[in-house]
Amino acid sequence: MQSKTSNDLLKFFIDTCKQQNLKVTPQRMAIYKELIKSKNHPSAEAMFQKVRRQFHNISFDTVNRTLFTFSEIGLIDIVEGHGRPRRFDPDMNMHHHFHCIKCGNITDFRNDAYDNLEIPENIKQKFMVIRKRVVLKGSCDKCSKRSEFSNAS
Ligand SMILES: [Zn+2]
Ligand SMILES: [Zn+2]
Repeated sequence: MQSKTSNDLLKFFIDTCKQQNLKVTPQRMAIYKELIKSKNHPSAEAMFQKVRRQFHNISFDTVNRTLFTFSEIGLIDIVEGHGRPRRFDPDMNMHHHFHCIKCGNITDFRNDAYDNLEIPENIKQKFMVIRKRVVLKGSCDKCSKRSEFSNAS
C-alpha cells in the first residue's frame, strides 16, 4: 500500500459503505482495519484470529461473510486462483502478485510494463475486463534458501 495512507483507506471504506448502504459497525470497521494492516493477503481464518482478540463473541462465519460482502461492494479483492482457503486483498490499486507455491505467501509488486499490458482484441470483443493483474508463481526467496540446505527439516 504505497500510494494511500490508512486514513485515506478508512475514508474509502466509510464512503463505499455509505454508497452501498452497508452500515459501518465497529466489527466491520475492525475487520477492515486488520485487513489493511496485514501485508500478507490473509485468509478468513487468519482474520478471524485477529479480530476475535477485540470482539470475543464474533464468529468465524461473521468474519467470513463480512469479507465476502466487502469484496462484493468493491472494497477489497479476493486473490485469484489460490485455491482454498480464499485469501483477501485490501489493495484495490493496480498491482501484481507473486505466489510462492511452497509457503503460500502472496507478495505484491508493482511494474509499469505489466500495468500497461494491452488487453488482446479477441478478449476485448467478448468480455468486459474490470481488472488486470499479472500473477507469477514459483518459490520465494525464503523457500529457495531453505531448499539449499536439503530437505533435512
Ligand atoms: Zn515461500
Ligand atoms: Zn495484493
